[in-house]
Amino acid sequence: MSNFVGYRCSKCGSEFGPHDVTYLCPNDGAVLDVILDFGSIKKTTGPRDIQISQDFSIWRYLPLLPVGDPGHLGTPLRSVGWTPVYSPPQLAKSLSLSKLWVKDESTNPTASFKDRASAVLVARAQEIKANVIVTASTGNAGAALAGMAAAAGARAVIFAPKKAPPAKVAQLLIFGASVYLVDGSYDDAVELSRQAAEAFGWYCRNTGYNPFTAEGKKTAALEIWEQVLSTQSSEQPLSVFVSVGDGNIISGIHKGFKDLMALGWIDQVPRIFGVQAEGSAAIANAFETGTEEIGPVQAHTIADSISVDLPSDGLRALRAARETGGAYIKVSDESILSAISVLGRYGIFAEPAGAAAFAGLRKALESGLITEGNPVLVLNTGSGLKDVAAARKAAGEAPVIEPTLAALKRALEVEH
Ligand SMILES: *Cc1c(COP(=O)(O)O)cnc(C)c1O
Ligand SMILES: [Zn+2]
Repeated sequence: MSNFVGYRCSKCGSEFGPHDVTYLCPNDGAVLDVILDFGSIKKTTGPRDIQISQDFSIWRYLPLLPVGDPGHLGTPLRSVGWTPVYSPPQLAKSLSLSKLWVKDESTNPTASFKDRASAVLVARAQEIKANVIVTASTGNAGAALAGMAAAAGARAVIFAPKKAPPAKVAQLLIFGASVYLVDGSYDDAVELSRQAAEAFGWYCRNTGYNPFTAEGKKTAALEIWEQVLSTQSSEQPLSVFVSVGDGNIISGIHKGFKDLMALGWIDQVPRIFGVQAEGSAAIANAFETGTEEIGPVQAHTIADSISVDLPSDGLRALRAARETGGAYIKVSDESILSAISVLGRYGIFAEPAGAAAFAGLRKALESGLITEGNPVLVLNTGSGLKDVAAARKAAGEAPVIEPTLAALKRALEVEH
Protein backbone atom coordinates (compact mmCIF):
# COMPACT_ATOMS: atom_id res chain seq x y z
CA MET A 1 0.00 0.00 0.00
CA SER A 2 1.27 3.45 -0.81
CA ASN A 3 0.61 6.79 0.88
CA PHE A 4 -0.45 8.44 -2.37
CA VAL A 5 -3.62 10.50 -1.81
CA GLY A 6 -3.90 12.77 -4.86
CA TYR A 7 -2.47 15.67 -6.85
CA ARG A 8 -2.05 19.42 -6.42
CA CYS A 9 -1.58 21.78 -9.38
CA SER A 10 1.77 23.57 -9.27
CA LYS A 11 0.16 26.69 -10.73
CA CYS A 12 -3.45 27.15 -9.53
CA GLY A 13 -3.22 24.93 -6.44
CA SER A 14 -6.35 22.90 -7.29
CA GLU A 15 -6.39 19.43 -5.76
CA PHE A 16 -7.48 16.19 -7.41
CA GLY A 17 -8.08 12.66 -6.20
CA PRO A 18 -5.79 9.82 -7.32
CA HIS A 19 -8.26 8.71 -10.01
CA ASP A 20 -9.43 12.15 -11.20
CA VAL A 21 -6.52 13.00 -13.51
CA THR A 22 -3.53 11.31 -15.14
CA TYR A 23 -1.25 14.02 -16.45
CA LEU A 24 -1.67 17.82 -16.34
CA CYS A 25 -4.06 20.13 -14.47
CA PRO A 26 -7.37 20.21 -16.36
CA ASN A 27 -7.79 23.92 -15.50
CA ASP A 28 -4.56 25.40 -16.80
CA GLY A 29 -2.43 22.60 -18.23
CA ALA A 30 0.22 23.01 -15.51
CA VAL A 31 2.28 20.18 -13.99
CA LEU A 32 0.80 18.37 -10.97
CA ASP A 33 2.57 17.61 -7.70
CA VAL A 34 1.86 14.28 -6.07
CA ILE A 35 0.34 14.61 -2.57
CA LEU A 36 1.37 12.10 0.07
CA ASP A 37 -0.28 11.46 3.42
CA PHE A 38 2.54 12.54 5.73
CA GLY A 39 0.45 11.93 8.85
CA SER A 40 0.09 8.30 7.90
CA ILE A 41 3.76 7.99 6.87
CA LYS A 42 4.87 9.39 10.23
CA LYS A 43 2.76 6.82 12.09
CA THR A 44 4.44 3.88 10.42
CA THR A 45 7.90 5.11 9.47
CA GLY A 46 10.69 6.99 11.23
CA PRO A 47 14.03 8.05 9.77
CA ARG A 48 15.74 5.11 11.47
CA ASP A 49 13.49 2.64 9.67
CA ILE A 50 14.83 3.95 6.38
CA GLN A 51 18.41 4.30 7.56
CA ILE A 52 18.71 0.65 8.63
CA SER A 53 17.30 -0.66 5.32
CA GLN A 54 19.50 -3.20 3.58
CA ASP A 55 17.89 -2.35 0.23
CA PHE A 56 20.52 -0.17 -1.40
CA SER A 57 18.31 1.26 -4.13
CA ILE A 58 15.51 3.82 -4.49
CA TRP A 59 13.13 1.17 -3.13
CA ARG A 60 14.45 1.77 0.39
CA TYR A 61 12.19 4.87 0.23
CA LEU A 62 9.00 2.93 -0.58
CA PRO A 63 7.04 4.51 2.32
CA LEU A 64 7.73 7.94 0.75
CA LEU A 65 6.86 6.91 -2.81
CA PRO A 66 3.40 7.01 -4.46
CA VAL A 67 3.67 3.40 -5.64
CA GLY A 68 3.67 0.01 -3.94
CA ASP A 69 6.42 -2.62 -4.07
CA PRO A 70 6.98 -3.26 -7.80
CA GLY A 71 8.35 -6.80 -7.44
CA HIS A 72 10.88 -7.96 -10.07
CA LEU A 73 13.52 -8.77 -7.46
CA GLY A 74 16.86 -9.62 -8.98
CA THR A 75 16.39 -7.34 -12.01
CA PRO A 76 17.91 -3.95 -12.89
CA LEU A 77 14.63 -2.33 -11.79
CA ARG A 78 15.70 -3.10 -8.23
CA SER A 79 19.19 -1.63 -8.48
CA VAL A 80 18.32 1.94 -9.47
CA GLY A 81 19.69 4.64 -7.19
CA TRP A 82 21.88 4.59 -4.07
CA THR A 83 24.54 6.05 -6.31
CA PRO A 84 27.96 6.82 -4.84
CA VAL A 85 28.92 10.15 -3.33
CA TYR A 86 32.60 11.00 -3.79
CA SER A 87 34.60 13.66 -2.01
CA PRO A 88 38.00 13.84 -3.72
CA PRO A 89 40.15 15.98 -1.40
CA GLN A 90 42.35 17.30 -4.23
CA LEU A 91 39.34 18.44 -6.23
CA ALA A 92 37.94 20.34 -3.24
CA LYS A 93 41.36 21.85 -2.65
CA SER A 94 41.78 22.93 -6.27
CA LEU A 95 38.52 24.88 -5.95
CA SER A 96 39.34 26.19 -2.45
CA LEU A 97 36.22 24.56 -1.06
CA SER A 98 36.25 23.07 2.40
CA LYS A 99 33.50 20.56 1.64
CA LEU A 100 32.70 19.15 -1.77
CA TRP A 101 30.78 16.04 -2.81
CA VAL A 102 30.11 14.66 -6.28
CA LYS A 103 27.12 12.33 -6.56
CA ASP A 104 27.68 10.12 -9.57
CA GLU A 105 24.53 9.00 -11.34
CA SER A 106 26.44 7.19 -14.07
CA THR A 107 26.36 4.01 -11.95
CA ASN A 108 22.61 3.60 -12.50
CA PRO A 109 21.62 0.54 -14.56
CA THR A 110 21.28 2.48 -17.83
CA ALA A 111 23.98 4.99 -16.83
CA SER A 112 21.96 8.13 -16.14
CA PHE A 113 19.81 9.83 -13.50
CA LYS A 114 16.71 9.06 -15.59
CA ASP A 115 16.49 5.51 -14.24
CA ARG A 116 15.03 6.94 -11.03
CA ALA A 117 12.00 8.31 -12.86
CA SER A 118 11.58 5.41 -15.25
CA ALA A 119 11.68 2.81 -12.46
CA VAL A 120 8.86 4.56 -10.58
CA LEU A 121 6.95 5.03 -13.85
CA VAL A 122 7.16 1.34 -14.68
CA ALA A 123 5.90 0.54 -11.16
CA ARG A 124 3.00 2.92 -11.66
CA ALA A 125 2.20 1.48 -15.11
CA GLN A 126 1.93 -1.98 -13.54
CA GLU A 127 -0.48 -0.69 -10.93
CA ILE A 128 -2.79 0.93 -13.45
CA LYS A 129 -2.40 -2.05 -15.80
CA ALA A 130 -0.90 -0.04 -18.63
CA ASN A 131 0.95 -2.44 -20.93
CA VAL A 132 2.60 0.06 -23.26
CA ILE A 133 4.59 3.05 -22.03
CA VAL A 134 5.62 5.77 -24.46
CA THR A 135 8.03 8.66 -24.10
CA ALA A 136 9.80 11.34 -26.03
CA SER A 137 13.41 11.64 -25.03
CA THR A 138 16.69 13.28 -25.94
CA GLY A 139 18.07 9.79 -25.27
CA ASN A 140 18.53 9.09 -21.58
CA ALA A 141 14.89 9.10 -20.49
CA GLY A 142 14.16 6.74 -23.35
CA ALA A 143 17.08 4.45 -22.55
CA ALA A 144 16.00 4.40 -18.91
CA LEU A 145 12.40 3.62 -19.80
CA ALA A 146 13.45 0.97 -22.31
CA GLY A 147 15.79 -0.63 -19.76
CA MET A 148 13.33 -0.58 -16.88
CA ALA A 149 10.49 -1.81 -19.10
CA ALA A 150 12.72 -4.65 -20.29
CA ALA A 151 13.48 -5.55 -16.67
CA ALA A 152 9.76 -5.64 -15.84
CA GLY A 153 8.59 -7.32 -19.05
CA ALA A 154 6.68 -4.26 -20.27
CA ARG A 155 6.65 -2.67 -23.72
CA ALA A 156 8.23 0.73 -24.39
CA VAL A 157 7.82 3.02 -27.39
CA ILE A 158 10.41 5.78 -27.72
CA PHE A 159 10.56 8.90 -29.88
CA ALA A 160 14.00 10.50 -29.98
CA PRO A 161 15.43 13.25 -32.16
CA LYS A 162 17.26 11.92 -35.21
CA LYS A 163 20.40 13.66 -33.94
CA ALA A 164 20.50 11.80 -30.58
CA PRO A 165 24.01 10.46 -29.79
CA PRO A 166 24.44 6.95 -31.30
CA ALA A 167 25.24 5.29 -27.95
CA LYS A 168 21.87 6.35 -26.59
CA VAL A 169 20.01 5.12 -29.66
CA ALA A 170 21.89 1.80 -29.47
CA GLN A 171 20.77 1.40 -25.86
CA LEU A 172 17.14 1.93 -26.84
CA LEU A 173 17.34 -0.76 -29.50
CA ILE A 174 19.28 -3.24 -27.36
CA PHE A 175 16.67 -2.99 -24.61
CA GLY A 176 14.07 -4.03 -27.16
CA ALA A 177 12.01 -0.84 -27.27
CA SER A 178 10.12 0.24 -30.39
CA VAL A 179 12.26 3.19 -31.44
CA TYR A 180 11.33 5.99 -33.81
CA LEU A 181 13.89 8.65 -34.66
CA VAL A 182 12.02 11.84 -35.33
CA ASP A 183 13.25 14.06 -38.12
CA GLY A 184 13.03 17.16 -35.94
CA SER A 185 13.89 18.53 -32.51
CA TYR A 186 13.27 17.06 -29.06
CA ASP A 187 10.27 19.37 -28.79
CA ASP A 188 8.85 17.85 -32.00
CA ALA A 189 9.32 14.37 -30.53
CA VAL A 190 7.43 15.46 -27.40
CA GLU A 191 4.47 16.63 -29.43
CA LEU A 192 4.33 13.41 -31.44
CA SER A 193 4.52 11.22 -28.34
CA ARG A 194 1.59 13.03 -26.73
CA GLN A 195 -0.51 12.56 -29.84
CA ALA A 196 0.45 8.88 -30.04
CA ALA A 197 -0.38 8.30 -26.36
CA GLU A 198 -3.79 9.79 -26.88
CA ALA A 199 -4.50 8.02 -30.15
CA PHE A 200 -3.44 4.54 -28.98
CA GLY A 201 -4.17 4.71 -25.24
CA TRP A 202 -0.50 4.30 -24.29
CA TYR A 203 0.73 5.45 -20.88
CA CYS A 204 2.93 8.51 -21.39
CA ARG A 205 6.10 8.97 -19.36
CA ASN A 206 6.95 12.41 -20.74
CA THR A 207 8.94 14.70 -18.49
CA GLY A 208 6.99 17.64 -17.11
CA TYR A 209 3.79 15.84 -18.06
CA ASN A 210 3.50 12.66 -16.01
CA PRO A 211 3.47 13.61 -12.29
CA PHE A 212 5.26 10.41 -11.27
CA THR A 213 8.63 11.21 -12.86
CA ALA A 214 9.43 13.87 -10.24
CA GLU A 215 8.56 11.35 -7.51
CA GLY A 216 11.24 9.05 -8.85
CA LYS A 217 13.71 11.88 -9.20
CA LYS A 218 13.17 13.06 -5.65
CA THR A 219 14.91 9.89 -4.43
CA ALA A 220 18.23 11.61 -5.18
CA ALA A 221 17.37 14.20 -2.51
CA LEU A 222 16.45 11.42 -0.09
CA GLU A 223 19.85 9.85 -0.71
CA ILE A 224 21.61 13.18 -0.25
CA TRP A 225 19.83 13.39 3.12
CA GLU A 226 21.16 9.99 4.18
CA GLN A 227 24.58 10.13 2.55
CA VAL A 228 25.50 13.75 3.32
CA LEU A 229 23.07 15.78 5.43
CA SER A 230 22.62 13.24 8.21
CA THR A 231 26.39 12.80 8.55
CA GLN A 232 27.18 16.52 8.79
CA SER A 233 26.65 19.10 11.45
CA SER A 234 27.00 22.32 9.53
CA GLU A 235 25.53 25.74 10.21
CA GLN A 236 25.79 26.44 6.50
CA PRO A 237 23.12 24.91 4.27
CA LEU A 238 24.32 22.49 1.62
CA SER A 239 24.38 23.93 -1.92
CA VAL A 240 23.29 21.40 -4.54
CA PHE A 241 24.24 21.90 -8.22
CA VAL A 242 21.99 20.34 -10.84
CA SER A 243 22.05 20.60 -14.63
CA VAL A 244 18.69 21.64 -16.06
CA GLY A 245 16.91 21.02 -19.35
CA ASP A 246 13.16 20.49 -18.93
CA GLY A 247 13.56 21.19 -15.22
CA ASN A 248 12.17 17.92 -13.90
CA ILE A 249 15.30 16.71 -12.09
CA ILE A 250 15.68 19.96 -10.18
CA SER A 251 11.94 19.98 -9.39
CA GLY A 252 12.09 16.41 -8.19
CA ILE A 253 15.06 17.12 -5.97
CA HIS A 254 13.27 20.13 -4.51
CA LYS A 255 10.21 17.94 -3.85
CA GLY A 256 12.37 15.38 -2.06
CA PHE A 257 13.74 17.99 0.32
CA LYS A 258 10.25 19.45 0.86
CA ASP A 259 8.95 15.96 1.73
CA LEU A 260 11.75 15.57 4.27
CA MET A 261 10.83 18.96 5.78
CA ALA A 262 7.15 17.95 5.94
CA LEU A 263 8.17 14.83 7.83
CA GLY A 264 10.39 16.87 10.13
CA TRP A 265 13.41 14.76 9.20
CA ILE A 266 15.46 17.80 8.16
CA ASP A 267 15.21 21.33 9.52
CA GLN A 268 16.72 23.22 6.58
CA VAL A 269 16.23 22.82 2.83
CA PRO A 270 19.51 22.87 0.88
CA ARG A 271 20.09 25.69 -1.58
CA ILE A 272 19.44 24.46 -5.08
CA PHE A 273 21.41 25.81 -8.05
CA GLY A 274 20.23 25.11 -11.60
CA VAL A 275 22.81 25.08 -14.38
CA GLN A 276 21.84 25.54 -18.02
CA ALA A 277 23.84 25.69 -21.20
CA GLU A 278 24.06 29.24 -22.58
CA GLY A 279 22.40 28.04 -25.77
CA SER A 280 19.48 26.42 -23.94
CA ALA A 281 18.77 28.75 -21.05
CA ALA A 282 15.02 29.43 -21.03
CA ILE A 283 14.70 28.97 -17.27
CA ALA A 284 17.91 30.82 -16.41
CA ASN A 285 16.67 33.74 -18.55
CA ALA A 286 13.43 33.90 -16.54
CA PHE A 287 15.41 33.67 -13.31
CA GLU A 288 17.47 36.70 -14.34
CA THR A 289 14.47 38.81 -15.28
CA GLY A 290 12.65 37.90 -12.09
CA THR A 291 9.49 36.65 -13.77
CA GLU A 292 7.59 33.35 -13.68
CA GLU A 293 6.93 33.58 -17.42
CA ILE A 294 9.26 31.30 -19.33
CA GLY A 295 9.74 32.08 -23.01
CA PRO A 296 11.08 29.59 -25.56
CA VAL A 297 14.60 29.71 -27.01
CA GLN A 298 16.10 28.05 -30.07
CA ALA A 299 18.16 25.53 -28.18
CA HIS A 300 21.67 24.81 -29.36
CA THR A 301 24.30 23.15 -27.17
CA ILE A 302 26.71 20.21 -27.14
CA ALA A 303 24.90 19.03 -24.00
CA ASP A 304 22.08 17.24 -25.85
CA SER A 305 20.37 16.03 -22.66
CA ILE A 306 19.67 19.60 -21.59
CA SER A 307 18.92 21.00 -25.03
CA VAL A 308 15.30 22.17 -24.77
CA ASP A 309 13.45 25.02 -26.53
CA LEU A 310 10.58 25.35 -24.06
CA PRO A 311 11.09 23.51 -20.74
CA SER A 312 8.08 21.42 -19.76
CA ASP A 313 8.69 21.77 -16.02
CA GLY A 314 10.01 25.31 -16.03
CA LEU A 315 7.86 26.88 -13.34
CA ARG A 316 8.69 24.36 -10.63
CA ALA A 317 12.32 24.40 -11.75
CA LEU A 318 12.43 28.16 -11.33
CA ARG A 319 10.93 27.96 -7.86
CA ALA A 320 13.38 25.24 -6.82
CA ALA A 321 16.15 27.84 -6.97
CA ARG A 322 14.11 30.87 -5.89
CA GLU A 323 12.54 29.28 -2.82
CA THR A 324 15.76 27.77 -1.51
CA GLY A 325 18.16 30.70 -1.84
CA GLY A 326 19.81 29.14 -4.87
CA ALA A 327 20.24 30.61 -8.34
CA TYR A 328 20.47 29.81 -12.04
CA ILE A 329 23.79 29.82 -13.83
CA LYS A 330 24.53 29.71 -17.56
CA VAL A 331 27.61 27.91 -18.85
CA SER A 332 29.25 27.84 -22.27
CA ASP A 333 29.81 24.65 -24.24
CA GLU A 334 33.53 25.28 -23.91
CA SER A 335 33.31 25.31 -20.13
CA ILE A 336 31.23 22.11 -20.23
CA LEU A 337 33.96 20.35 -22.22
CA SER A 338 36.55 21.62 -19.77
CA ALA A 339 34.44 20.33 -16.87
CA ILE A 340 34.38 16.87 -18.49
CA SER A 341 38.20 16.91 -18.53
CA VAL A 342 38.53 18.07 -14.92
CA LEU A 343 36.10 15.48 -13.54
CA GLY A 344 37.86 12.83 -15.59
CA ARG A 345 41.08 13.53 -13.68
CA TYR A 346 39.29 12.32 -10.56
CA GLY A 347 37.96 9.15 -12.16
CA ILE A 348 34.51 10.54 -12.89
CA PHE A 349 33.33 10.28 -16.49
CA ALA A 350 30.45 12.61 -17.37
CA GLU A 351 28.50 13.28 -20.54
CA PRO A 352 28.20 17.00 -21.40
CA ALA A 353 24.89 17.51 -19.57
CA GLY A 354 26.33 15.64 -16.59
CA ALA A 355 29.41 17.86 -16.44
CA ALA A 356 27.40 21.06 -16.87
CA ALA A 357 26.60 21.17 -13.15
CA PHE A 358 30.30 21.14 -12.33
CA ALA A 359 30.94 23.87 -14.91
CA GLY A 360 28.23 25.85 -13.11
CA LEU A 361 29.98 25.40 -9.77
CA ARG A 362 33.24 26.71 -11.23
CA LYS A 363 31.39 29.76 -12.55
CA ALA A 364 29.63 30.31 -9.22
CA LEU A 365 33.02 30.28 -7.49
CA GLU A 366 34.40 32.83 -9.96
CA SER A 367 31.46 35.15 -9.44
CA GLY A 368 31.46 34.78 -5.66
CA LEU A 369 28.00 33.17 -5.57
CA ILE A 370 29.70 30.28 -3.77
CA THR A 371 32.58 30.80 -1.37
CA GLU A 372 35.03 28.60 0.53
CA GLY A 373 32.79 27.95 3.53
CA ASN A 374 29.78 26.77 1.51
CA PRO A 375 29.39 22.99 1.56
CA VAL A 376 28.64 21.93 -2.03
CA LEU A 377 27.29 18.82 -3.72
CA VAL A 378 27.46 18.51 -7.50
CA LEU A 379 25.48 15.93 -9.42
CA ASN A 380 26.89 14.12 -12.42
CA THR A 381 23.66 13.12 -14.11
CA GLY A 382 24.98 10.88 -16.90
CA SER A 383 27.90 8.72 -18.01
CA GLY A 384 30.52 9.96 -20.45
CA LEU A 385 30.16 6.70 -22.39
CA LYS A 386 26.77 8.01 -23.55
CA ASP A 387 28.45 10.56 -25.80
CA VAL A 388 31.91 9.50 -26.87
CA ALA A 389 32.13 12.15 -29.59
CA ALA A 390 31.88 14.89 -26.96
CA ALA A 391 34.43 13.13 -24.75
CA ARG A 392 36.89 13.08 -27.66
CA LYS A 393 36.33 16.78 -28.18
CA ALA A 394 37.20 17.33 -24.52
CA ALA A 395 40.19 14.97 -24.41
CA GLY A 396 41.71 15.20 -27.88
CA GLU A 397 43.42 12.29 -29.62
CA ALA A 398 46.04 9.84 -28.37
CA PRO A 399 49.35 9.74 -30.33
CA VAL A 400 49.91 6.68 -32.52
CA ILE A 401 53.42 5.23 -32.26
CA GLU A 402 55.46 2.41 -33.76
CA PRO A 403 55.77 -0.53 -31.36
CA THR A 404 59.39 0.27 -30.45
CA LEU A 405 61.05 1.70 -27.37
CA ALA A 406 62.77 4.32 -29.53
CA ALA A 407 59.44 5.58 -30.81
CA LEU A 408 58.10 5.65 -27.26
CA LYS A 409 61.10 7.69 -26.11
CA ARG A 410 60.52 10.22 -28.86
CA ALA A 411 56.85 10.43 -27.94
CA LEU A 412 57.68 10.91 -24.25
CA GLU A 413 59.96 13.82 -25.14
CA VAL A 414 57.18 15.51 -27.09
CA GLU A 415 54.89 15.20 -24.08
CA HIS A 416 57.39 17.01 -21.80
C1 LIG B 1 17.58 14.69 -18.59
C2 LIG B 1 18.94 15.04 -18.17
C3 LIG B 1 19.22 16.26 -17.51
C4 LIG B 1 18.21 17.33 -17.29
O1 LIG B 1 17.02 16.92 -16.64
P1 LIG B 1 15.71 17.82 -16.82
O2 LIG B 1 14.69 17.17 -16.00
O3 LIG B 1 15.39 17.77 -18.30
O4 LIG B 1 16.05 19.19 -16.38
C5 LIG B 1 20.52 16.48 -17.12
N1 LIG B 1 21.50 15.60 -17.36
C6 LIG B 1 21.26 14.43 -17.97
C7 LIG B 1 22.41 13.52 -18.22
C8 LIG B 1 19.98 14.11 -18.40
O5 LIG B 1 19.78 12.96 -19.05
ZN1 LIG C 1 -4.00 24.30 -12.31
